[in-house]
Amino acid sequence: MIDCQAALDAVYAEIRPQIGDGKVADYIPALARVPAAQFGMAVCTVDGQQYGVGAAATPFSIQSLSKVLGLTLALQQIGAAVWDQVGREPSGDPFNSLIQLEHEHGKPRNPFINAGAIGVADLLCSAFADPRQALLQLAQRLCGDAVAFDAEVAASERQAGFRNAALANFMKSFGRIGNDVDAVLDVYFHQCALALSCTQLARAFAYLANKGVQPLSGDTIVTPRQARRVNALMLTCGTYDAAGEFAFLIGLPCKSGVGGGIVAIVPEQMAICVWSPGLDDTGNSVVGRRALELFVTQIGVSVF
Ligand code: GLN
Repeated sequence: MIDCQAALDAVYAEIRPQIGDGKVADYIPALARVPAAQFGMAVCTVDGQQYGVGAAATPFSIQSLSKVLGLTLALQQIGAAVWDQVGREPSGDPFNSLIQLEHEHGKPRNPFINAGAIGVADLLCSAFADPRQALLQLAQRLCGDAVAFDAEVAASERQAGFRNAALANFMKSFGRIGNDVDAVLDVYFHQCALALSCTQLARAFAYLANKGVQPLSGDTIVTPRQARRVNALMLTCGTYDAAGEFAFLIGLPCKSGVGGGIVAIVPEQMAICVWSPGLDDTGNSVVGRRALELFVTQIGVSVF
């Protein structure tokens, strides 16, 4: 029997002197103002137990963690047709890179790089009359709380989102974006600007540890096969050009965001969320990654 709370407390004690390491994302002005010296971590197990430490209840900008929500919603609506729009290979390039798109005729390598998530947002624009509302409803269904977009973060990202606009327009030039580019970017910027806490995110991602079923509500979110596939993509693509390093050091499906959050899935056991805003140069939380390493070592889990 794993004592999750004791393991979280031990990790917090060990990581405390390092809190504040890394550099907050400054290319999105609203994120540049977030103090780096913050840390929270939470666990939700498949039998519904919840644990937390530090600022586990503090909401933060989930950024690319939302790419898992977008993919989940697209899989629910259109199933395997998602793979006509985006691939399933790691890119080995930074999350916002344009470079492969030219060679690969505008088809993004996977749904977890920015180009791929913008491609998924296009699918959501085709599938829903109000895709932003559909994303909010999914987030609420997954974490069991009322949640909201941080309008300031969404506006800030739109105003500074030159690269994402370039990606979307470039894909459109290959005929890969069916909807209006601004409408697609609006959905993408809003999903990134969802504000959730570690506790809420651990609950929200627990379906991926539980064969697609949200453990607290019993709701079926995706099929067991879809859950397995989302986990596979998180392992190979969820932390961009650091995915190999994450597999090596942590050995679990992980998804990160430039708000400093990382979610890790222990299949059939639990979802873990850690948050600390200081990033490394691959856009992954420095202290979050170290805390995850300590935690999985402490409790002795890995998919390998
Ligand atoms: N909203 C961010 C962007 O588009 C998401 C990137 C991330 O979290 N890695 O740049």
